[in-house]
Amino acid sequence: MAMPENVKTSPDYPVPKTHKAWVLDDPGQLRLTEKPVPVPGRAEVLVRIDAIAVCGTDIEVIYQGPPALIEGGVPFNKNWTPGHEYMGTVVALGLGVDEYAIGDRVTVEIHAGCGQCKRCREGMYTSCHNYGKNYGDVNKGHRANGFTTDGGFCEYAVNNINTLAPVSDQMSDEEATLVVTAGTSMYGLTELGGLVAGESVVVTGPGPIGLLGVAVAKTLGAYPVILTGTRDNRLEIGSKLGADHVINVRNEDVIEKVKEYTGGIGADYVLECSGAANSLNEAGKMANRGGKICLAAFPHEEVMVDVMHLVANNIYVYGIRGEGKSGTRRAAAFMDQKRFDATLIHTHTFDMAELPEAIRYAKDRVEDAIKVVLKNDYAYEKQAAAE
Ligand SMILES: [Zn+2]
Ligand SMILES: [Zn+2]
Repeated sequence: MAMPENVKTSPDYPVPKTHKAWVLDDPGQLRLTEKPVPVPGRAEVLVRIDAIAVCGTDIEVIYQGPPALIEGGVPFNKNWTPGHEYMGTVVALGLGVDEYAIGDRVTVEIHAGCGQCKRCREGMYTSCHNYGKNYGDVNKGHRANGFTTDGGFCEYAVNNINTLAPVSDQMSDEEATLVVTAGTSMYGLTELGGLVAGESVVVTGPGPIGLLGVAVAKTLGAYPVILTGTRDNRLEIGSKLGADHVINVRNEDVIEKVKEYTGGIGADYVLECSGAANSLNEAGKMANRGGKICLAAFPHEEVMVDVMHLVANNIYVYGIRGEGKSGTRRAAAFMDQKRFDATLIHTHTFDMAELPEAIRYAKDRVEDAIKVVLKNDYAYEKQAAAE
C-alpha cells in the first residue's frame, strides 16, 4: 500500500506509489518525470486527474513565474507541477473526510486558503494573507494548486474538500474542466453586486473568462449583455452563449455603440477580461455614472488611467483574483442545469503526454484554439468501459 493507515482507499481504485508528472525546469521548459503520489492530510482527498484544461495563467507561470510562488520564490527548477483547471475521481480520503466518497467525480477550484486569516474568514480565500506560506516554519497550510502547491499536469493531486465541487453523470470530463473558468466569471459578477437581473453588463474581451462571463451574466438575468472584441468568430460564440449585442472594436466605435444599446447613458457594469492597455479607460467611458468595473485580466504593461473621469462619475473599480466566495460551486450548479453550453469554448483535446504541444496550441492560438483540454489514459479506459 502506498497510503498510510489513516487514509481510506478502495480496491476499486488502486493507488500506485508513483505517478507521471510534468515539472517546470527553466522558464518555458516542461519535463515529464515520475513523482511519489501525494498523501492527503486532514480534510483532504486524493484526486485521480482525468482531464485538465490549459489556462492563460498557466502560460504566464510557465514562462514568467508569477503569480506562482513556490517556497517564497519563482517556480523554476523546484520539481514543481503546474496546471489548475482539472477534474477527476476521488480515490483516497484523508483523516475526517466523510463529505465525499471514493469514486465520486469532482471538479476543483484552485485556492484552499489558510482558513485562518482575515480574508479567508470573509470568503476571500483567493486573497489569503498567507498566500504561498506552506513550507518550513511558515507553514500556514495555504494551498493554491498549480500556483503555490503541485497542480494537475500529472495523474494524482491532493485537494482540500473546500476546493471540490461534485460533477454529475450528465457532465462530460471535458465540460467539467471548464467549471472553474465559469467560477471566475461568477466571482467577478458577485463582486460587482451579484444582483445583475435587469441591469446592463458589458464584457470586454472574448477569451474563456469573458465568454463564460457573458453566459453567467445572461443566466443571472442581466439585460442587455454586450460583448466587445476584435475577432468575429469569437464574438459569434459569445452570441451563442447569450450576448444580446456584440461589438467588433475594429469596425465600430465601441463607446458610442455601448451608449446606443444602453439608452444613451452607458452600462451598469463592465467586466474587463481583455487585459488591453487602454481597457480601463475605455471601461470607464462605457460605464454609466455610479457604475462598476471589475478587472479580471492581467495586463502586460503599466497603464495611464484617467482617474479624473472615474472620480467625477463615482465609478467603482474592483480587481478580482481567481474564483472566490464559492463562485465555482454556483457556476457548477448552472452548468449542471444546462443553463448554458460551456463546451462551445472547448476547441482541442490532447493526451497528457502531449502537454508542450497543447500549451503551444493555447499560447499561439493555433487553429483558433480557445480551451485546450488534456486527458489521462484511464479517462479513455473509463469511457470505453462505459460504452
Ligand atoms: Zn485558470
Ligand atoms: Zn488565509
